[in-house]
Amino acid sequence: MRIITRGAELRALSRRARQSGMTVGFVPTMGSLHQGHLALIRRARRENHRLAVSVFVNPLQFGPKEDYARYPRDEVRDVRLCRDAGCDWFFAPRARSLYPPGFSTTVSPGPLAERWEGAVRPGHFRGVATVVLKLLNLVEPDTLYLGQKDAQQASAIRAMVRDLDHPARVAVVPTVRDRDGLALSSRNVYLSADERRRAPGMIRGLREGRDLIRSGFRDPRTVLAKVRARIRDEARPDSIDYLALVDPATLESLGRIEGASLLIAAIRFGKTRLIDNLPVARPRSRRGRRG
Ligand code: AMP
Repeated sequence: MRIITRGAELRALSRRARQSGMTVGFVPTMGSLHQGHLALIRRARRENHRLAVSVFVNPLQFGPKEDYARYPRDEVRDVRLCRDAGCDWFFAPRARSLYPPGFSTTVSPGPLAERWEGAVRPGHFRGVATVVLKLLNLVEPDTLYLGQKDAQQASAIRAMVRDLDHPARVAVVPTVRDRDGLALSSRNVYLSADERRRAPGMIRGLREGRDLIRSGFRDPRTVLAKVRARIRDEARPDSIDYLALVDPATLESLGRIEGASLLIAAIRFGKTRLIDNLPVARPRSRRGRRG
């Protein structure tokens, strides 16, 4: 595995590989790697001749009061995990080289990025879209691998790739969870022991919502009221930033459950925010409708 800090070097390697008929897979991360990241890395490894993983804590996607400075970092361990997973190119650019003095152009995603995470974290998806486009332009991969864990991010990036005619294919990998259901996240290390015990209440709430839809409920308000009560009872968060049932592509709230949908939630324990989501397939039959 080659450790690369200069974008030009990675681009040259990737171009050479693709010119000789190989495919290149790319997994962008902010490091502090866990089994969720490794699921993306393993899938990309299986599906491509060459695999690039980037580790870059992107300052542009953090708000001024967010956790950029204290975001967990462990590059030595990340290098080892990537090497063990068969990564070819470990890309760890410095912030100064991606954003040199005079850097001023950014990507502004559309309305999809203004809702939910975008409303709570203004400018977040502009930062994400900008860095992902820069990385795509350096790596020039055939396929970009993203996690369902960050469903809104995946939708925003998909839309960017489509709208700006980037040739990369986007693959979204299912969320990897701990045994008690909590979605793996680099930010879980911020949780106190008590918060960690309560946190799976969020996914239990979302699963109850999915079960209600499967059993015939069609009114999002009824479903969401029950999910909210369950999350309040079991996770006992300091606040629920949002809880919604949305269209999986546009992230718009649904007025009625007819096709496939997505339950999304963000909760807070003190300063720690956790997000999660659960895709719900299109309900099968109209029998047993319960309002
Ligand atoms: P991050 O390092 O948090 O920016 O995440 C890098 C990539 O890993 C993103 O595409 C995430 O959606 C994905 N990811 C993070 N956590 C998980 C998880 N628990 N399961 C699947 N993918 C994940």
